[in-house]
Amino acid sequence: MPKLEPENKHIKLMFLEGDGIGPEIVKATSLVLQTVDNIFDLGIEFLSREIGLKALSSQGSTVPDIVLKDAKNVDGIIIGPTSTNEYPEITEGGLNPSATFRKLLDLYANLRPAKSFPGLPPRVGEKIDLVIVRENTEGFYSDRSMHIGNGEFMPTKDLALSVRKVSRFASERIARTAFELAIERKNKVTAVHKANVFRISDGLFLESLRNVRKEFPSVEYDEKIVDAMAALLIRDPSKFDVVVTTNMFGDILSDEASEIAGGLGLGGSLNSGDKYAMAQAQHGSAPDIASMNMANPASLIISAAMLLRWIGKRNERDDLVIAASSIERAISSMVSSSLTRTADLGGVLGTKEFSEGVVNNIKENTNMAN
Ligand code: NAD
Repeated sequence: MPKLEPENKHIKLMFLEGDGIGPEIVKATSLVLQTVDNIFDLGIEFLSREIGLKALSSQGSTVPDIVLKDAKNVDGIIIGPTSTNEYPEITEGGLNPSATFRKLLDLYANLRPAKSFPGLPPRVGEKIDLVIVRENTEGFYSDRSMHIGNGEFMPTKDLALSVRKVSRFASERIARTAFELAIERKNKVTAVHKANVFRISDGLFLESLRNVRKEFPSVEYDEKIVDAMAALLIRDPSKFDVVVTTNMFGDILSDEASEIAGGLGLGGSLNSGDKYAMAQAQHGSAPDIASMNMANPASLIISAAMLLRWIGKRNERDDLVIAASSIERAISSMVSSSLTRTADLGGVLGTKEFSEGVVNNIKENTNMAN
């Protein structure tokens, strides 16, 4: 997407509901964005497209061609979680939407903050405030690391193999993202790896990080083996600021970090590249609570705020950054009390009531309440 002209306040966001709790939390997120659009006159155009199981039955693919085409012509995407575990093979239309967009739009950096909220005790461990910077295009994710074919295959019916890909190019660019982010935060990068076993592949990952580190001499740097990191996050998360790691380790550790912060329903997640970005909840489609007004929409709402900030910074649009902050403050205020948070966090509100509360909080704090 080319940068916006400063006088052009129009931005187009594409909403993709997904499966399970996806429609409920995307609706909640859309409501919050309509609110900030009205208050701050952001010029957002809302575009909705169908993906997932509904699209499979109506259009023969979980990611129809029209969505792929539109994805390159919008300023940002907000995607609900998808029930990928239930999808048929790719040959029968079962494309993994996350993987498809990450590859199509080269969304190489997955930023996953985990921050404790005032008034909400950590579910386990101590207070946390870090960002996991997860490499998003290769590693053990066999459906996205090959040019043609799949990195997971069965030479015989009793033998399954999976190829893990680590390249210098991807490792260096994710390292740069991590160091640049650390400069805006607490100036520390921790690299997480398993180079004691994956000597060649994680060896290359670490070598790439150490090379990029030379460009950022003021940033403190250390390295942790992934299994120790899982324990250290619970023992003392205050030791970490920006944590950079490969795809699967980042996926797993970020769920752990979100739980420490209070719960999986609070973990924001932005997939970003040099041109495009996509907001996505950290969690899955939670089919066990779908259509029950029980899902916490905070993860996707926080992710949407991250997207607004990303577009705002890239285009020098302070209004988008201010809108993002107002959303984050409202979420923080709502989760601070059990009377205004959702059931997964020990609260009493449903999805709808929580999102209405976020909307009212934003309005009250900008003197726009009716
Ligand atoms: P999940 O994250 O959907 O659910 C794990 C647990 O957390 C469940 O008990 C669920 O009820 C709860 N939970 C998750 N999000 C919640 C929320 N917002 N509010 C309240 N509770 C919430 O993981 P799963 O059950 O392993 O996976 C379900 C499906 O999601 C699978 O088909 C999987 O492939 C898919 N998945 C999709 C994504 C994605 O779209 N990005 C990511 C992970 C898993």
